[in-house]
Amino acid sequence: MTSSLSRVTLGPTKLKLWAECPQRFTFRYLDKVMPDADSDPAALGRALHLLAERYTRHCWAGGLRTDYDRGRALAEEIEADLELQVGAQFAPLAAAYIEHAAVPTRTPRAGIEQEIGIDEETHAPVPYDTALLRGRVDRWTYESGRVLISDLKTSWVMPPESEIENDVQLAVNAYLIWKHLDDPEVYAVTIQLEHVRYIGHKDHGIRRAEFHASRLTRIGEWIKRRTAEVRAVERGESVPAVRVGDHCRHCPFIEACPAYAGMSGVALPARSPEEAAALADRIGALEEALKRHKAALKEAVSEFGPLAGSTAEAGIQTRETMDLEPQSVLDAVRELGGTVEEAVGLLRGPDRATIRKLDARLRQALEARAQYRTDTALRVSAKKEEQP
Ligand code: SF4
Repeated sequence: MTSSLSRVTLGPTKLKLWAECPQRFTFRYLDKVMPDADSDPAALGRALHLLAERYTRHCWAGGLRTDYDRGRALAEEIEADLELQVGAQFAPLAAAYIEHAAVPTRTPRAGIEQEIGIDEETHAPVPYDTALLRGRVDRWTYESGRVLISDLKTSWVMPPESEIENDVQLAVNAYLIWKHLDDPEVYAVTIQLEHVRYIGHKDHGIRRAEFHASRLTRIGEWIKRRTAEVRAVERGESVPAVRVGDHCRHCPFIEACPAYAGMSGVALPARSPEEAAALADRIGALEEALKRHKAALKEAVSEFGPLAGSTAEAGIQTRETMDLEPQSVLDAVRELGGTVEEAVGLLRGPDRATIRKLDARLRQALEARAQYRTDTALRVSAKKEEQP
């Protein structure tokens, strides 16, 4: 086993962050640019996990499926723990959980271990304290080669099951418990997300994803590769190239991020009056740039003519662009015999198939009229470039 002195302990959440953005992971866990801070939602989540753990332990110890009174008392104890700062949402969610969540009867092998650990290199089970790869589970039960892991969720959004199957964090959790059990008879691990805000609703806010042994083996290989990447950066190798995108939206390290520096065109919310003022300045510059772009486009259109210069012209490529002014699009689509849905579709995001369909109708209309109308409201214009 390797020494843990200079190594960050990895688990499902950290591996997910690494997969999303190695730079953000490096800022947070290797450079420690910002200490971990508990937000209110995180405290709420932790408090509910604690309640589930204590309540399950109590019910299992007494062979009970429910014990509302003790459950409510446990919730009050947790709420009274000032360090947790659970907020006003905790009490109703805890009450809903206690009232509706019957604890499964204990199966031949079942646990509420919150902590599991496996050795980083061999992936064999090791005590939690010494593990460099470890995770936490709320509750797991085992029967006939199948493991069920329950994970409480406090979010309002319930992801579709297809999304759960592809969730890195859950996949790593499933793998960790599979290796932790180290039992060749276990052929599948099911993750069950229990959305406590929807307990008592139609499907009780439950979403499941199943991971079979063959996939768990592949997940293990993935973990080994990602772990090796993290260790390489810890040894001083450079951080793998990162991609700036939507995931940067809530990143607290934007200002320090070399990939983000100098990027323009990525819309992010202003977080202070100063940032808002800086953004306002940028809006002016962007409007200027847009004007210049429009002028250049107009010039190109007046030089080559809208639609008239077709792809038939040798050596010329055409590319459709649209003026997305709502009323003009609607008018134009109607004029061309299109549907309102098509117009709405164009406004939401022009898709090539609809543009081509309308373009074909426009050409037919133009031919039929003989009289060429350049001022048609659907300003599908042709931007032409010399082919290389
Ligand atoms: S700004 Fe984006 S690319 Fe940079 S660290 Fe944050 S998430 Fe990663």
